[in-house]
Amino acid sequence: MSGMRLPKQVRIVEVGPRDGLQNEKILVPSEVKIALIDRLSAAGLQSIEATSFVSPRWVPQMADAAEVLAGISRKAGVSYPVLTPNLKGFEAALEAGAQEVAVFGAASESFSQKNINCSVAESLERFAPVARAALEQGLKVRGYISCVLGCPYEGQIAPEAVADVALRLHEMGCYEISLGDTIGVGTPLKVRRMIEAVAAQVPTERLAVHFHDTYGQALANILAALELGVAVVDSSVAGLGGCPYARRGQRRPALHARRHGHRNRRRPAGAHRRRALHQRFPRPLLGLQGLPGLGLWGVTIRFTTKSLKMS
Ligand SMILES: [Zn+2]
Repeated sequence: MSGMRLPKQVRIVEVGPRDGLQNEKILVPSEVKIALIDRLSAAGLQSIEATSFVSPRWVPQMADAAEVLAGISRKAGVSYPVLTPNLKGFEAALEAGAQEVAVFGAASESFSQKNINCSVAESLERFAPVARAALEQGLKVRGYISCVLGCPYEGQIAPEAVADVALRLHEMGCYEISLGDTIGVGTPLKVRRMIEAVAAQVPTERLAVHFHDTYGQALANILAALELGVAVVDSSVAGLGGCPYARRGQRRPALHARRHGHRNRRRPAGAHRRRALHQRFPRPLLGLQGLPGLGLWGVTIRFTTKSLKMS
């Protein structure tokens, strides 16, 4: 294929302990979260998003952020980024010894309005001081963009809108920008168009992809991104996670669900991969046995080796 440039190595950023667990209805005990993170680092992962310093009123699951960060056995060479949505969260993260933080913006105006009650531009203004403070303290800052391939409220998202937000995060000093398909409606062609638009504004080496596997398309979408030179992929152990807002508002994606549904019922996409992960991280460890809906959301990608080897 012309223009194809698969990376020689792919870095995996595991977001399960934060992105995955934050939507679980039951409160996972801190010691279970700590054990999960330590097992992920023992498995060879070098970047594990540990928690989120967000108001417990918004996300009760993350109320123990400081405790979790203090409890993990930090392995040399492993980074444990934490989400910091505002300065208050950043200060708490700093106090808890965070060495890397993450901020996030949406590519969709309606998603931003409905979820954080402000426009995309306003949200970016809110994150600028967080990024500035982090950089001043010598911390690394990662940026996230949600809804890059579709929005539960407004449907299609223009690739240029994603590129605009990516450029702002890049200018803010984010060393990496993770492009999130929050509701998993992406297809390889959409991925290609979106990455090309973003790469025109931000160097490809600064990009990561964060593709939810809602309709079993994550791996195909990841491959499309790899073919354009993206070499960082977010994963969520055992396919944990998903976006509660996306789930609530997914009227449009439901059409896709029906289309992909039949095939998925016969042979769930990625089922064998999930099984492999479950063996290493059995549900009982997480106290999540028997919960409905688990494993349907989140990126499912093998990370049994340090890097994803392309053959
Ligand atoms: Zn996610």
